[in-house]
Amino acid sequence: MKKIGVLTSGGDSPGMNAAIRAVVRKAIFHGLEVYGIYHGYAGLISGKIEKLELGSVGDIIHRGGTMLYTARCEEFKTLEGQKKGIEQLKKHGIEGLVVIGGDGSYRGAKKLTEHGFPCVGVPGTIDNDIPGTDFTVGFDTALNTVIDAIDKIRDTATSHERTYVIEVMGRHAGDIALWSGLAGGAESILIPEADFEMDDIIARLKRGHERGKKHSIIIVAEGVGSGVEIGKKIQEMTNFETRVSVLGHIQRGGSPTAFDRVLASRLGAFAVELLLNNQGGRCVGIQNNQLVHHDMLEILDQKHTIEQKMYQLSKELSI
Ligand code: ADP
Repeated sequence: MKKIGVLTSGGDSPGMNAAIRAVVRKAIFHGLEVYGIYHGYAGLISGKIEKLELGSVGDIIHRGGTMLYTARCEEFKTLEGQKKGIEQLKKHGIEGLVVIGGDGSYRGAKKLTEHGFPCVGVPGTIDNDIPGTDFTVGFDTALNTVIDAIDKIRDTATSHERTYVIEVMGRHAGDIALWSGLAGGAESILIPEADFEMDDIIARLKRGHERGKKHSIIIVAEGVGSGVEIGKKIQEMTNFETRVSVLGHIQRGGSPTAFDRVLASRLGAFAVELLLNNQGGRCVGIQNNQLVHHDMLEILDQKHTIEQKMYQLSKELSI
């Protein structure tokens, strides 16, 4: 293999730049040429492909977002679109591709693999919802953004003696909610992976109130439903003054944490190693602090799970 490509696709996440840098530098270290494909699969189809040098990825390790930009591209879901993408890769002499993104992006990479083009997936998403890895690139940064917001909201919640419902991202996964709720000392955490009873949440709030608690924080994962609706219900059922804060896209931005930079660097470099060993159709991850790789087709069939013991702990600590 002499030439490889790299693209970022789907929702961006902090640390994608660090992953791109690792792919480029590791590839050049091994004497490969590297091509950046801009705007995800859309740029692959249209041929927005440029050679990257060592300096192309200078001064990006600490920046959020992705220097290659990202896009959602419906056309790539069609056979026609995929064929156009492969033609562009062939035209540039690219023999292997690193795809940094979430499960949607993996599905695109899986298609390329099925057409015989070697791809390696790097998990880049704040949602932490990719099976086969303990952490995805961007999750830790998003988590810390949420914690910062919870701490600030807690100040005003205390001053006004209010209940706050904070809706966090994560799509169908509850990881951001669970980890931030546990780290932020939330009274209740609502995640799609666990059933909850409104009566239980209300009883917990009332118990806290009777103990003289000045504020309460409820974390709602977006996958559970609208934080606004849950806030309304809580206000109706308790008569406590309740406010709702939907954190939104601030969770996707910002300078990546040290953890995400290191993770992105390790995973990006590992992806190149796999391509060099002719191991296409794989996706990389980290499990028990060891770099691992799994069959992309198998990973996409698996269901995301959360650490149930951690969820149980969050309940025990906010009794
Ligand atoms: P993420 O990677 O963050 O999960 P998306 O789900 O939006 O983001 O997927 C990103 C892109 O991956 C899509 O816009 C599309 O171009 C490509 N993609 C997603 N699913 C498929 C599929 N089944 N076949 C081919 N390409 C796909």
